Amino acid sequence: MSAPLHPGEWLGMLGGGQLGRMAVHAAQSLGYRVMVLEPDAHSPAGAAADEHLQAPYDDADALTQLAARCAAISTEFENVPAQVLERLGADRPVAPAAPAVAVCQDRAAEKAHFAKAGVPCAPHALLQSAADCAAVDVGLLPGILKTARMGYDGKGQRRVKNAAELAAAFAELGGVPCVLEQMLPLAAELSVIVARGRDGQMVTLPVQRNWHVGGILATTAVPASGIAPELQAEALRRAQALAEAFAYVGVLCVEFFVLDDGRLLANEMAPRPHNSGHYSIDACSHSQFELQVRAMAGLPLPAPRLHSPCFMLNLLGDLWFDAAGQQREPDWAAVLQLSGAHLHLYGKAEPRRARKMGHLTIACATEAQAREQALAATRILGLPTEGLV
Ligand code: ATP
Ligand code: MG
Repeated sequence: MSAPLHPGEWLGMLGGGQLGRMAVHAAQSLGYRVMVLEPDAHSPAGAAADEHLQAPYDDADALTQLAARCAAISTEFENVPAQVLERLGADRPVAPAAPAVAVCQDRAAEKAHFAKAGVPCAPHALLQSAADCAAVDVGLLPGILKTARMGYDGKGQRRVKNAAELAAAFAELGGVPCVLEQMLPLAAELSVIVARGRDGQMVTLPVQRNWHVGGILATTAVPASGIAPELQAEALRRAQALAEAFAYVGVLCVEFFVLDDGRLLANEMAPRPHNSGHYSIDACSHSQFELQVRAMAGLPLPAPRLHSPCFMLNLLGDLWFDAAGQQREPDWAAVLQLSGAHLHLYGKAEPRRARKMGHLTIACATEAQAREQALAATRILGLPTEGLV
């Protein structure tokens, strides 16, 4: 195993979004410098980076520069071409490695990985043609048809009740390979962040409980109140089994469903820090971004401790518009008056509906206080109260 990287060395980040921005902040705190590869001239991570390489993710010259400068490289979004990571990995430690990212990029490969690790998931079928749709097991209906690749925030998904709707949805999604999942009765949604080092050491953040609105994460609560401790322990074990099964290096997020009958099923994985782990910046001894940087740099991985019960509320672009559709600035001063409020804005110039502009973590001495303050924040900002009432 190679020695830990020294402060002052360069880390490379593929992607310029908010996940990259918060990783840059964590890397800089530990004394590293960061080069971000991102085609957009104005990006959250590009603005925070020590150097922004403005080029497409597969630009040969840019990749050569990145590999020449950076002692380790990571990615902040999973749709960067896996071949790019593979190429970079020939010269430099890349964490996570290309094969693991490739699995997470494809729902069919992801489901196969669940099976390999012995982790149960939703009953499903891979559909590659109209003929596959016609021959599908009707026991999977009603279901959710999801494109195998490139889906996020509920995009590339259609809910289908019967065979006719399935055929229409498959055509509407462009006839690309899809996974049909049985529609499950969800009692709750959980996620687990696991970090694994090059030496195989693993640590986890506490189990997160999540609520979505319109297919987008709205609220995360930690601790995951209302979820039996044995079930939470099982979620932690399964997330670690999934990381172990591809000798993962870096931060991995695993989303789980809890069904009405109490069963725990894996939903999907993200090969990077995750929106549901943002609370760890303000409520844990070590954040998911610090763990990502430590794993990249070959530093020890401490077991993070939750020091404050908290709620994380996503701030979507919708908040920047009043009822008449006029653009406005939300009343941040009023929100920041609340005790335990930590505001994170990603520096995106243009607010758009459903666009993730920032998040607010309310971390207090008790869960009841955090809930009360989070509810006050929803009233000030006009946010959904999912998970709070
Ligand atoms: P993201 O990447 O933002 O987490 P995504 O677009 O990859 O989301 P999924 O996580 O697959 O999508 O699904 C989004 C949400 O839709 C889930 O969090 C859950 O609320 C609901 N959902 C997905 N699959 C099922 C299912 N099989 N049964 C019931 N609900 C589901
Ligand atoms: Mg998801």
